Amino acid sequence: MESDLIGKLQREAYKVIYGHGPVTGQEITVTHGIPGGWKRCSELEAVGMVYAAVEKNCSVTGQLAIGWDVTDRLPPATQEEKQDRIQRCLDPLRRKVAKCQKCPHLVSTRRQTVFGEGDPRAELAFVGEAPGEDEDRQGRPFVGRAGKLLTQVINRLGFYRRQVYICNVLKCRPDAASGNRKPTRAEMLECLPYLKAQLGQVRPKVIVILGGTALEAMLEPEESISRLRGEVLDWQGTPAIPTWHPAYVLRNPTPQVRREFWSDCLEAVRLLGYVVRKDDALWLPRVNA
Ligand code: SF4
Repeated sequence: MESDLIGKLQREAYKVIYGHGPVTGQEITVTHGIPGGWKRCSELEAVGMVYAAVEKNCSVTGQLAIGWDVTDRLPPATQEEKQDRIQRCLDPLRRKVAKCQKCPHLVSTRRQTVFGEGDPRAELAFVGEAPGEDEDRQGRPFVGRAGKLLTQVINRLGFYRRQVYICNVLKCRPDAASGNRKPTRAEMLECLPYLKAQLGQVRPKVIVILGGTALEAMLEPEESISRLRGEVLDWQGTPAIPTWHPAYVLRNPTPQVRREFWSDCLEAVRLLGYVVRKDDALWLPRVNA
């Protein structure tokens, strides 16, 4: 490669890596994100990857390259973006859910409601079934062991947790004398309107449905999760891919289950239009004992 071209690529790559947002060079346009393990890259590798991405006319984001958060240093939002954020503000709905008394038996045992979290303009959403004990204590979805596994997968897909949207069908922990239990159908039906309103405001481009219970609540399919996982279904006009719940993966950490879980999630980013590299496809989530 010509040295002046290398220099140009390096300058473009560093602009992205160090937070100057999307940049346009004479021959290069760099926008948005590319999934896959960038946090483990050195800067030099990142430059090479930017070059490879540009060559293939795919997209790149610097904050993924070395784990820097450049979000705050991106150019100020336009009026249109601000308006969009206001329209998608979920706070009124969050407050409504926090006061909800529709399931008195859950209200009497919950510490708090677990509404959901992430970017209200996320392209990708993950929906599980219900909060467990850790979530009930912290008021955040997927923060226990299953949450750690989900976070690992989200990061490997090339996102921070805050760049996607994560929630459950049920906003209150199903009460149980010992341990967590599966939500009942009646409980999920009571809570489903909140999920519809929530995702209706976020408007993700792809939804990953985590586990058979969430799938049952959202789509009432005739077939089981083991038959439907990995297929692109439709939820309220949005492509939705069911896969294993991370807790199931923890309980059954065989290479096959981990591969299926990962490949279903990878399919979601493929649907978003991201490039999936060969080593992305070969990766397997780690499951610690
Ligand atoms: S589970 Fe949903 S519908 Fe039931 S009390 Fe909690 S927020 Fe309300």
